[in-house]
Amino acid sequence: MHASTQLLNEQFINNAWVPSLNKTHRPVLDPYRETHIAEVTRGDPADVDAAVAAARRALPAWRATAETRRSEYLKAIAAGLESRREALAELSSRNNGKPLAEAYQDLEDAIACYRYYAGAAVALRERQGTVEDTGQPDLEARRYWDSIGVVGLITPWNFPLVSSAWKLAPALAAGCTVVFKPSEITPLPERVLAEIVREAGLPPGVFNLLQGDGEGIGAPLSRHPGIDKLSFTGSNPVGEAVMRAAAQGVRPVSLELGGKSPILVTEDADLALARDLVMAGICYNAGQMCSATSRLLVHERLADDLYAAIDAAMAELRLGDSLAAETDMGPLVSAAQQERVRGYVALAEEEGLRSETPAHALPEHGFFVAPRLYREVPTTSRLWREEIFGPVLCARRVADDAEAIALANDSDFGLAATVVAGDPDRAEAIARQLEAGNVWCNGDQVAPPQGSWGGMKHSGIGRELGQAGLEAYLESKRITRPAR
Ligand code: NAD
Repeated sequence: MHASTQLLNEQFINNAWVPSLNKTHRPVLDPYRETHIAEVTRGDPADVDAAVAAARRALPAWRATAETRRSEYLKAIAAGLESRREALAELSSRNNGKPLAEAYQDLEDAIACYRYYAGAAVALRERQGTVEDTGQPDLEARRYWDSIGVVGLITPWNFPLVSSAWKLAPALAAGCTVVFKPSEITPLPERVLAEIVREAGLPPGVFNLLQGDGEGIGAPLSRHPGIDKLSFTGSNPVGEAVMRAAAQGVRPVSLELGGKSPILVTEDADLALARDLVMAGICYNAGQMCSATSRLLVHERLADDLYAAIDAAMAELRLGDSLAAETDMGPLVSAAQQERVRGYVALAEEEGLRSETPAHALPEHGFFVAPRLYREVPTTSRLWREEIFGPVLCARRVADDAEAIALANDSDFGLAATVVAGDPDRAEAIARQLEAGNVWCNGDQVAPPQGSWGGMKHSGIGRELGQAGLEAYLESKRITRPAR
């Protein structure tokens, strides 16, 4: 460990930082400078026991706290994030490598999410006891919603503060107490969140944060019998392991997993709009997005022009220091991620895939992979079928909408899609036929808290955000009695 490196060897349990029982650490890096900025504990199953016990103790009182009061706490968390906006954006950018402007966008999304669920908590209060049809004049029935209990929340590294907000805000609004495990690769932003939660005055044990890796915290948390529900965002293999662990005790899971999302461009599309949406879909966060639109299906009449426009735009991207204002794309999050994406580039070369994207002069340090477009990628190629999680776009030209839709749906995943068409009604008609949880027509990948997020097929189970995001943390109960 370097003398100046921060040692993150504590867990946030019962509103206090307590030492982890595991004294081994892993480095936390600045992926642009390739420097150690911290060392984080790997975590210990005994930490999980302590956090779950705290959350269980806090559950009865938190569950009984009025929704309107819980709403106030959520507003206080939003205000806490807002008051530290600059520091948090910088920390997130430095730890993850994303351009500062993107880190600010993440913060806005997280703040909006806590505010939205503050409102949703009040609305939940108002619908408690909704009168329902019984089909019999001598009976009356009412519906109530209770928190599902103690929840285990596990998130990846690509959108610190955002993926956690999508889980924490609805869980707390619903009256759940939480044991939250952020990614060991980006632990820094969420440590500040723990401070914000404490300042917001949440009762001890309602929010517990465990730092560590999959072995130290993730797996023990998934199989812990004191956890009533698991909500996981991350890779498919780990998602399946979480689901297997949850089967013991018949505990529900929400899973937000990988994607290989298509972007479809019809022959009447605006070329500049198509180029911009393709670029945002594969280069935002250096392509490290579960919803990256990494398969381009373009009408043959527009294909050559669009390929040329994308190549030119990729060549113009400024790769560099995530904290510098002029940077368009930062490094990948880690050396491992860089290695993984480079592996796909090497495979493309082996397979003889065609790319005309001009070569980039990469910065001297940082885990960079230059953006590139591969043309007419066979649908059997691993590059076409697997999630790459980097700025690597695969494209194919198609003869008509039917072929584009068939190819778009020919994937194990079904998270998201974009359609670019001159006629918005045609775009929506195509969207209706796509197997994806979100489809954006002629516009950016927006995900407001009022919306919905989640995938079909192997992309996951359940939906986050919006009303469905709250229901994921509630049990519903119907009470029937003789009519008054
Ligand atoms: P990952 O699955 O390796 O890790 C995710 C989290 O799970 C981390 O906190 C990790 O420590 C933890 N973990 C690791 N092993 C575990 C285990 N055995 N049991 C329980 N938890 C364990 O994923 P990652 O590399 O952090 O993130 C990239 C992946 O996440 C990509 O595949 C991406 O598509 C997916 N992702 C999906 C969404 C979505 O909304 N669908 C959003 C972001 C990322």
